[in-house]
Amino acid sequence: MVLNGKLVAAKVQDEVRTGVAQLRAATGVTPTLAVILLGDFPPSQVYIRNKKVACAEVGIATQDHLFPSGLSEADLLKLIQRLNDDPAIHGILLQLPLLPGMDEDRVVEAIAPKKDVDGFHPENLGRLLAGSPTVVPCTPAGVLEILDHYGIELKGQEAVVIGRSRIVGKPLAHLLLARHATVTLCHSRTQDIAFHTRRADLLAVAVGRASVVTGDMVKEGSVVIDVGINRGADGKLTGDVEFAGASARARAITPVPGGVGPMTVAMLMKNTYLAARRQLGAT
Ligand code: NAP
Repeated sequence: MVLNGKLVAAKVQDEVRTGVAQLRAATGVTPTLAVILLGDFPPSQVYIRNKKVACAEVGIATQDHLFPSGLSEADLLKLIQRLNDDPAIHGILLQLPLLPGMDEDRVVEAIAPKKDVDGFHPENLGRLLAGSPTVVPCTPAGVLEILDHYGIELKGQEAVVIGRSRIVGKPLAHLLLARHATVTLCHSRTQDIAFHTRRADLLAVAVGRASVVTGDMVKEGSVVIDVGINRGADGKLTGDVEFAGASARARAITPVPGGVGPMTVAMLMKNTYLAARRQLGAT
């Protein structure tokens, strides 16, 4: 079975659209997302465009802070402080990567945790680790949403996550652990990745390298979540998993494109809506 991220994302977007309309009716306030983009890196421009289209579709307003020719780190920190203090702004989307030489940790930590709709602030990551998550990073939250939509049981399952980034692998491992999976987290220094993947009931791959997982590495009857996005020489997008080989063995698998990707944007909408609700005191 192919796990259809587009379909699940559309369901989440519908729920957010309804919630936003109800919140606006109850409070007279439109949830608003400030969008910060530095430089002219083409993929970032595409991501921002997609996120803004999604906001428009669910009724979330956006406020642009686009600096194609750059901005100093000091001015960026001042802008973030101003947005933190502005009650009309409920979420701050800081598109990464920042410009070369900028201290990403310092800038991310400058965002007020309640407006950190990406869930990258150490306070929000800490809450996830502590078992009481408030804002969960969008991509791993989207993975859980897909698994839940298709009724995939996690309790007691062997889950293997490849990739330990702050935005995908680590938070995903904690979310799976919180659902009572037995989690193994693999990375570039792991010896014999295939040993781990072959016993995975759930295999989630977030590396950024095409075909890092081949069909023979996949357990028969397992569930495979491919987070990777790679552009081939032919310009086509592929994931980290060799789809044909893996789908012949897995019982369920996400495609690329159309799997985890659409979920990331949908969960950003959900995080922004929930952040606005909390700030407006709606329960
Ligand atoms: P990242 O920060 O570059 O992290 C990559 C991780 O993969 C690291 O932990 C690295 O290990 C590990 N790794 C690298 N080569 C490996 C190998 N040969 N075997 C095992 N592990 C290896 O990347 P990211 O931001 O997590 O993103 C990962 C992929 O997901 C990228 O393709 C990205 O475009 C994609 N992505 C997709 C979405 C979406 O919406 N679908 C969202 C975010 C990211 P070390 O820690 O040891 O270096």
